[in-house]
Amino acid sequence: MKTPSTMKNQSARGAEKYFGGIAAEAEEEPPGKAALLALEEEPPSTGAQRRHFFGHIPDNLWNDWKWHFRHRITTVDELARYIPLTAEEQYRLKLVTVKYPLAITPYYLSLIDPADPRDPIRQQAVPSFNEIALAGIGTEDPLEERRDSVVPGLVHRYPDRVLMVLTDICPMLCRHCTRKREWRNGGWVRTTAQVEAMLDYIRKHKTVRDVIISGGDPLTLSTQHLESVISRLRQIEHVEIIRIGSRFPVVLPQRIDSELCAMLSKYGPIWLNTHFNHYRELTPEAAAACDRLVRSGVPVNNQSVLLRGINDSVEIQTKLCQGLLKIKVRPYYLFQCDEVEGTEHLRTPVETGLKIIEGMRGYTSGLAVPTFVIDLPQGGGKVPVQPNYILGQTDDELLVRNYRSHLYRCHNPRTRAKTKPAPVAEPVKVAVAAKKEGIRDANRLSLRS
Ligand code: SF4
Repeated sequence: MKTPSTMKNQSARGAEKYFGGIAAEAEEEPPGKAALLALEEEPPSTGAQRRHFFGHIPDNLWNDWKWHFRHRITTVDELARYIPLTAEEQYRLKLVTVKYPLAITPYYLSLIDPADPRDPIRQQAVPSFNEIALAGIGTEDPLEERRDSVVPGLVHRYPDRVLMVLTDICPMLCRHCTRKREWRNGGWVRTTAQVEAMLDYIRKHKTVRDVIISGGDPLTLSTQHLESVISRLRQIEHVEIIRIGSRFPVVLPQRIDSELCAMLSKYGPIWLNTHFNHYRELTPEAAAACDRLVRSGVPVNNQSVLLRGINDSVEIQTKLCQGLLKIKVRPYYLFQCDEVEGTEHLRTPVETGLKIIEGMRGYTSGLAVPTFVIDLPQGGGKVPVQPNYILGQTDDELLVRNYRSHLYRCHNPRTRAKTKPAPVAEPVKVAVAAKKEGIRDANRLSLRS
């Protein structure tokens, strides 16, 4: 059990570790190594918590996703039975849930350490008073999805792909959700006529080769209902791939059952994008769910969201991404948290994401390094944001730094006629000049000698 003082010390150490400068760590030793050893000492979170909270639930119910769905925790009074909350906290959380409701599956609740208010699983699921205290920051629909809706439920923003939203129901209401504006009037499923209108649009637009069915979480629909949509999509010749966006493998992995997998395997290529944010979500149940999908011919990618105090360090992201690869899930995107009203307390500076990518690149395999992306406001779309490794260039040479900030010159072939380039400074000269001028960031140095 953590005492308040040890918790405070741990938090202070965490802050020092992070704000002490990831870039500085990166130059001296692989950031993953020492930190990962420390992280490995943390106790596993499943099992014990399940026994603590739900020891009376037999395995046949625990393994039934519909039981979890029916028994979601949706009120503050219920939540207080599992997690210690003072009367003042309960009062404040009730105010929050008027605007932003609450829903947590028993499975996901069982991953929470009830003694730790800063627990990264808890912060994704349990409301925070900051959701309404900072509500003046951000907007309800920063990505302007409503503007790009061509028919109700269908967003067509990019030339070759569309987003189909079949329902706004999710097994869990994630506190950082981009679509939390939908929660208040929630609980809808698109009607047969609405689905037909979406399919009709796709049939008529032959440039659409990729259909993303996303959330609300489409796997809340019955397998039969889902099949009726997927099978009709499959009949459209120009639809090459179908993607499903679902957080079920993370918050209710029991949903990935043999019936669902058998159905999906009939209509490939189907890809599934899921949303693990922390390595503690990589439980045996989640691993088994992903394994079932992969064995059914459904590749699984992960799109995590960078969240303050939850996964905003090199160490946590490295451990998450390495863990994902172990369960055959590819780390695909790391999203800058969108400018959504009610999420400001979870948003990080963009520099945090850049430092994380910089601290991972080179220190672990490229397969484990996601693309850091900002989904631009006003519907500008996704833009990858990467650390800068090219420090300068002439007509036929590049000056590039590697992950350890060592400098290298690379010949850069040109097809056009050469003009005589100015000589590039020797890397050693750049380094010496940087030192002389007291400049740590070699980007600020001129390439010319
Ligand atoms: S599963 Fe996705 S859509 Fe649903 S609440 Fe969580 S982040 Fe939002």
